[in-house]
Amino acid sequence: MATAAQNRIEEDVWIPTCCGQCYCMCGIKVRRQNGIVTEIEGNPDAPTGRGSICPKGLASPHLLYDPYRVNYPLKRTNPEKGLGVDPKFVRISWEEALDTIVQKLNECRDRDPRGAFFQATTTQASEIRFGVIGFMKGFGTPNYWVSGGGLHCGNGAHFMNGIMHVAWSIIPDFAHCNYALNFGCSKGHGAGHVDVQNATKAADARARGFKNVVFDPFQSAQASKAHEWVPIKVGTDGAMALGLVNSLLNEHGIYDAEYLMYKTNAPYLIRPDDGRYVRDDVTGNPIVWDLEDNCPRVHNDSAVARVEYEDEAHEVALTGTFKVNGMDCNPAFVLLKEHVKKYTPEYVEKITSVPAAAVSRIAKEFGEAAEIGSTVTIQTEKGPKKIPSRPVATHFFRGAQGHTNSGWTCLSIDMVNHMVGAADTWG
Ligand code: SF4
Repeated sequence: MATAAQNRIEEDVWIPTCCGQCYCMCGIKVRRQNGIVTEIEGNPDAPTGRGSICPKGLASPHLLYDPYRVNYPLKRTNPEKGLGVDPKFVRISWEEALDTIVQKLNECRDRDPRGAFFQATTTQASEIRFGVIGFMKGFGTPNYWVSGGGLHCGNGAHFMNGIMHVAWSIIPDFAHCNYALNFGCSKGHGAGHVDVQNATKAADARARGFKNVVFDPFQSAQASKAHEWVPIKVGTDGAMALGLVNSLLNEHGIYDAEYLMYKTNAPYLIRPDDGRYVRDDVTGNPIVWDLEDNCPRVHNDSAVARVEYEDEAHEVALTGTFKVNGMDCNPAFVLLKEHVKKYTPEYVEKITSVPAAAVSRIAKEFGEAAEIGSTVTIQTEKGPKKIPSRPVATHFFRGAQGHTNSGWTCLSIDMVNHMVGAADTWG
């Protein structure tokens, strides 16, 4: 039984820090009494989590005080390995552990520093990886791998997000989005990057009328919270996305011509002989057709290029046939419209099991919710700036991309956004 002296609280402090139980690194406050962690809660002043934490974070003191926690170095003494073989670990001092590692690293560096390979995991706190990278640079090896390859992580998703959005990961702009399509993706539902914060934002969005449609083969966390769960055959998300693109373009005639003209390669003219871009002889840049001066121009010619939304520029062709270098050329958008024509709602139903009527309806709902043509004015350090408002989003992650043709699947899903101009803008 504890004595009165032992029960006396001589220290009682709350320490602001980060939870280290996963890479989200939610801001937390830890209560320490007499040197013991007694309580954890979310830190409302922290941008990650905004005061909320998940059950795993909340339970982390149990890990700290787990009687089986490994608190000191162990050395394997049995060289024989195999199932059921006792590794005969023995406790060693930190000095011996560090000396052993330093000796091995020195031997490696003498042979060739590139022989050192560092392996990290995505499920550790992010800042640890920066320390590892700094050490690697100093050591002289470029060989480093953050595990998570394969289905575990976002092979196609990160790749495509990087190309299309210069981002590791994408989520809807929950503060302004009104309609989102999740493809095998739990963001906003207690998983993924900055998960607690996204879950809070998604909950706030729902309260103000945001609608979430979830394509998922099973009733996942996000499907169970969805306004509409659309069961889909495993690995067919790409076909579903192309079906939505077809319905938008060829069935409902919904697309953001302004966005496609100035922000994508949809107007680039295509050679009929090899299907590649028609390019300028001098710069090698792709060519578009200037509808105002009725002539070909390099795509980034100031007459036809718009950087900011309010910049003035001539319209360029998205449809039609134009004679360039003696060839009859179409804008890429014409080829895209033709290419996706085979993804009729009925064809998509056969592949995905999603009813044809649902494919067509969801495309229409998405296209209408995009509010094509609408704008908002935001404040920037250079003053007010008008930008498009497109309060819709498709997003994808492991479920959609953990299959063959992962990159193409992600590109197809992302293309639904681009058809209505809903990329990297308000909404
Ligand atoms: S999501 Fe949970 S486990 Fe991950 S950092 Fe936040 S509180 Fe910790």
